[in-house]
Formats: sequence, C-alpha cells, structure tokens
Amino acid sequence: MTDIIHLLPDAVANQIAAGEVIQRPASVVKELLENAVDAGADNIQLIIKDAGRTLIQVVDNGKGMSFNDARLCFERHATSKLTTADDLFHLTTKGFRGEALASIAAIAHVELRTKMAEDSTGTLLQIEGSEVKEHAPVATADGTSISVKNLFFNVPARRNFLKSDNVEFGHIEEEFNRVVLTHQELAFSLYHNGKLVLQLQPSNLKQRIVNVFGNHFQDKLFPVEQQTDFINISGFIAKPENAKKKKSEQYMFINRRYVRHPLLNYAVETAYSELIPDGYKPAYFINLEVDPSTIDINISPTKVDVKLQDERLVFGFLNSTVKKSLGQMSLTPRLDFDYEPGMDLSNMPKDMELKEPAVTHNPNFNPFNSHPASGGGHSSSGSSYSRPSVPHNTNFDTSGWSDFLQSLKTETETVKQEQTETPTLDLQESRQEEQDESPIDNVKCLTINQKYIVANIGNGISVIHIAHARERILYEKYLTAIQQKPITVQQSLFPETITLSPAKADLARELKPQLLKLGYDLESIDGTHFAVNGTPNGDDGEDVQHVIELFLESYHSNMFLHHAEKDQNLAMSMAKQKCSSFKPMTENCEIIDFLRQLFDCQVSNVSPSGKSIIRQIEDTEIESWF
Ligand code: ADP
Ligand code: MG
Repeated sequence: MTDIIHLLPDAVANQIAAGEVIQRPASVVKELLENAVDAGADNIQLIIKDAGRTLIQVVDNGKGMSFNDARLCFERHATSKLTTADDLFHLTTKGFRGEALASIAAIAHVELRTKMAEDSTGTLLQIEGSEVKEHAPVATADGTSISVKNLFFNVPARRNFLKSDNVEFGHIEEEFNRVVLTHQELAFSLYHNGKLVLQLQPSNLKQRIVNVFGNHFQDKLFPVEQQTDFINISGFIAKPENAKKKKSEQYMFINRRYVRHPLLNYAVETAYSELIPDGYKPAYFINLEVDPSTIDINISPTKVDVKLQDERLVFGFLNSTVKKSLGQMSLTPRLDFDYEPGMDLSNMPKDMELKEPAVTHNPNFNPFNSHPASGGGHSSSGSSYSRPSVPHNTNFDTSGWSDFLQSLKTETETVKQEQTETPTLDLQESRQEEQDESPIDNVKCLTINQKYIVANIGNGISVIHIAHARERILYEKYLTAIQQKPITVQQSLFPETITLSPAKADLARELKPQLLKLGYDLESIDGTHFAVNGTPNGDDGEDVQHVIELFLESYHSNMFLHHAEKDQNLAMSMAKQKCSSFKPMTENCEIIDFLRQLFDCQVSNVSPSGKSIIRQIEDTEIESWF
C-alpha cells in the first residue's frame, strides 16, 4: 500500500494561508500599516498605484529590521510579537500571527528595504511568490519600506474578481481610516497615482476625525467618556440629527484595534433609537479599553472579529455611556467639545466644580447570580480588573446640564458683580441665595406666536420649538409613569361612560394596567362600554373619550407600522394626545418653568419623534449678519 499524504511545500502553504488573510489590495494595506505602527513609527506613508493593483507601498520610520530578520520575517509563523501561547492574552501589538508577510510574499512581488538606527547599512530583500531573488546590504533610511507589486500575479481567480479601481481604492481608504482614527498621535500620508490624497499631522482625536472626514464634521461630534475599573470608554459620537440613512461612519475599537462586533454596534445604535428615525445610522468613533486577558482577538485570520468575555457587561456600559452622552449633548448647546488632554483651560470659570460622570447602577446586582456566565471566554483569574455592578437602569443623570447651569451661574455672578457697585452681601449669604434661585431664573425669555421661545442663554440666543419640546416633556413624564412612578389617579364620584369600537375596546382591556399607570382607571362594562372611574390628577375637564380613542389609535398604528417598543409606544401615544391641550405661556416665570422641565429631560434637543427642539445662535453669528 502506498502512502499518499505529504507535507505541502512552504510556498504552497503560504499561498493557501494568503487566501484567508489577503482578500484584496486593502488587506495588504491593513497588514503593512499595522506592522508600521507596531514598529513604533511616528510617520507612515502609504503609496498606492491603480488602487493597489500596480503598487502598494508603506514607508515608515520605525525600528527597522536586522539583515537576518529581513529574511526571516517572510517565513510563516515568524513574529517578534509573541513567544508563548499565553502571550496571546497580553497583546499590545496589532500583529501576532506572523503570517501576513509570508502570505503577501506568496502572491506578489515584494521588495523590502529596512535599516535599524544602530546599523550603518540597511538590507534589501526581493521576493517573488515566496522565492527570494535578492538579499543584500543596501544604503537606505532608518525604518522600513515595503513595496508590494503585481498582487495576485499567480492567483488569477483573485485577480479577476477585483472590483473597479474606485471600489478597491474605497476599501483601501477604509483600512487606512481604521488605522489613522485610532493613532491620532502619529503622522500619516496617503498618495494615489502620484497625488497626495490625505496628509495627517499628529493631533487630538476630534481633529483627526475632522481631517479625515471633512470640516463639516466639526460641529457634529460629541464626546463619550466613561472610566471604570472594568472598562474605559472614550471617543466621539455624532449628534442624532447627523445620522444617515445609508452607511454611516461607524468605528469601534477595542484596545485601539478596529473590531467588527455586531453586539457593540447594537449597544450604540439602540442608545439612539428614540432619537433617530428607523433605518438611520449614527456615526461613532469609540475606543474601549479592556483588560487584554478578557478578550480573544485570535478568532479570525484578519483579526477584526473578537470575542469578549463579558459581553453583557460591556454592552451595558457602552449603551448607558452613549445614552448619557446623548443626554448631555442635548443640554450643552454651546459647550466646547474639545476637552482633550492638554486643552486650554483658561476660559473655564474658576470655581466651576468638575464632576465625574456617573452611570446609574444597582450596587447589589450581580450578573453572575442571575445569568450563567456566557462560556467560551478565558479565565480572568489573576487579572487586576474587578467586576463592577451592571448598570441595570437606562436612566442617566443630567450632570451635563447642571455643569452648564453652573457655568451660567458663574457667568451671571461675574456679570452681576461687574454691573453693580454694591457687593455688600456677605459671600456666604449670596451663595446660599444662588442655590435657592437657579441662574435659569434670571434668563430672559419671550414667546413668539406661542410657537417658539427665544431665550438669552450663554453667549447668544436659543430658539426653542414649543410643540416639539412639549412632546419631549410629556413623553418622558409618561415613560416614567409607566416604568417607575405611576400618575396619581383622581377618582370620579360620578363615573363618565365612554364607548369604543370593538377592536379598540379589546385593546383598551389589554392595556388596562398601563392605562391605570397613565392615570386612567377604566372599567369594562360590556363589549364596547367603559366606566371612567378615575382620570389623571390635574387633567380636569378633558374629553376622555377623545383622548382614549386617539391614544389607542396611535398606539395601534405605532405597533404595526413601526414595531415600536411597548413602553415607548405607550408614552409616545399619550404624549401626542396631550400635546395640543395647553395653556398659552405669557409670564417669564411660566416660560422658565417650561424650560426647566425641558432641561430636566434625559434628552432635551430632539423630540421623541426625532424633530429638533433647540437651535442655538451664537452672538458671533448674530454679529456676522451685520
Ligand atoms: P506579525 O505582525 O503578526 O508579527 P508579520 O508577518 O506581519 O507578522 O510580520 C512578521 C515580523 O516582521 C513582525 O513580527 C516584525 O518583527 C517584523 N516586521 C514586519 N514589518 C515590520 C516593519 N515595518 N518594521 C519593523 N519590523 C517589521
Ligand atoms: Mg503583522
């Protein structure tokens, strides 16, 4: 009997591995850029010709390689980044599999020039389809330059399946973005067919995003920030009004590695769900820092899919952090978002108290009691990370608004002191007074046709759309009523009877407990009649028949047309009915009270149906009109 099994020659094995790692020119770009970052370079150039078909070159000023390493790096499983399997869980580098260069060399013509700063000469290596053609000393700059030509020259199937230059270059730009957006401290440049496409100087993240995506991003971004023992979340999210119907700029990084993780994407998108229409996608640029031992990045050859040990925890933190940021966003129409390390603090009010953002959580909740651990992860024993309690409550505080108020307070204080020459009050006393009377009480407002409020807030004027704001206030009031604190029912001495269609009557019976939380105590008399035993305290004199009918209609259509979530739907449907019944506001204090209610909302700048509530016009803009 003859043996038929044999070991594949390295060149063939490498070509097979390349099938997984290198799918298109953009995959080469990704691997080469990652190697340059891992080599400690702070200036990296990417040079492309014909969307990578003719040339992909990466030039870096990193640590370079020795004469022997320059040869060895093209061997499969040749890496300087790990030695033992355990190292996989302490990785700080992008690469670790030691197969990118071997794969690339198997399916292209590669030229490497590299030199370590301490060596007097560098090394040239030419390799074609895994075959070394040249390995010699050469004069070259410190760092490494790798040119990849004739990609897929020996894999016609791959070559023929490449898309148009536009599409392929689009993929290259995407890979480039994924690296530059998480290494804003490094300089990058991108050339295509001899033209400079993008040059990036070291900067902060916000500036980097704007440099990559254009100036129009400047005002669209809002920071997200949350630090705990378990996870640090940082980055920027786009304002809801900038969500796009098609693909949006969505960048999720874990430990500064771009990752594809549907659950994390979902955590961000659901935080926006009330703020943007269905099918729209928010842009985000978020980096999560977690203990490397709690994440497995070795589940796909391209290293973009990852497995998190504590998926549920991360989901909860991320979701509540984004929600909180969205809440703060609505409260800070004029704050500067550029609070990066090293920012200029000179404009900050001196005694402004800076608060750590806090995520509401239940300190007694232990996820490992109620849910079995989701297997497949790696033991985190020995890790210094403690498990925090899970944020079970999607509410978030509005400390952003109080900070804003605080800054207003300081402003008004200064203005007051400047304007009056009578600082006779005892400081202590004046502070006390300030606490009782919030600065918003001093804001001057007026209404225009009962449609808009114009208020002098901060450095300009805010215009508030009253109907949208009212919808938001009522919506949050009813959501709280359903989820936490039911509205007080005022019992009727002589219950009114209402008549509903059979379908609505069925729905009313089904929603009886929720209607009660919203203040309506309905008792079914027969198929279509109900006695109204109680109505919401304070809502006297309303047409209950009308309110309940329209409420049920709205609830029903939201459920079928938009698949709205139950609580949100109930709150939204009730808010809609109550929106139209209101007293005109005339006194300044009434308007202030209304604004206070608005800014007490978790989200204050967008109505639950996604419409804008506030526009802020800076005084510099007003000045520019003249
Ligand atoms: P990995 O990055 O997974 O280690 P690669 O095949 O991408 O595998 O690279 C193999 C090795 O070659 C790296 O571990 C590194 O030591 C070296 N190397 C690759 N590119 C560079 C570079 N631009 N500068 C310095 N060393 C490099
Ligand atoms: Mg690599």
